[in-house]
Amino acid sequence: MNGSLAVYPGSFDPVTNGHLDILRRALTVVDHVVLAVAYNQEKPSGLFSVQERIDILAQVTEEFGDKVTADSFHGLLVDYARRKNAGTIIRGLRAVADFEYEFQMTLMNRHLAPDVETMFLMADEAHFYTSSRLVKEVHSFGGDISAFVPDYVAKRLAEKLDK
Ligand code: ADP
Repeated sequence: MNGSLAVYPGSFDPVTNGHLDILRRALTVVDHVVLAVAYNQEKPSGLFSVQERIDILAQVTEEFGDKVTADSFHGLLVDYARRKNAGTIIRGLRAVADFEYEFQMTLMNRHLAPDVETMFLMADEAHFYTSSRLVKEVHSFGGDISAFVPDYVAKRLAEKLDK
């Protein structure tokens, strides 16, 4: 397992400035990050399709070159990390609300794969309340979300709303 190769899993529906802040911080510690869109084959959900989310991630992370790739997975995260030979899982922490869930997940993943380490990073306080869910909700009611997502994501959200 390569500790300098990390998987950053999430829904990324769509990616926000909070996710990108975590990604930037992760790249100061590891050499390569795989942004992995988690999905459930039996229960497809979300505003953007998995392929759309991957395309958006690839577009907004162009500046990082080959240090970042976008992919998707279903099933157990630790199995996916093993397949990728990634020794590190990246997660972001916002308010206390994230803690309980992240704590449970990390301990379960550690039980399943003791050789894969989870690393928590904190985004800048400017992103403390940013979530994909809130961005989608505010945008669907006509609110301005441009401070919370890259311009490209705002454009893709606008296209969805027009449909
Ligand atoms: P999930 O479906 O697990 O909530 P998300 O795509 O919402 O997936 O988020 C993936 C990871 O990024 C999670 O660890 C989440 O806590 C973190 N994250 C999302 N938004 C932010 C933010 N604004 N600041 C810090 N971490 C964040």
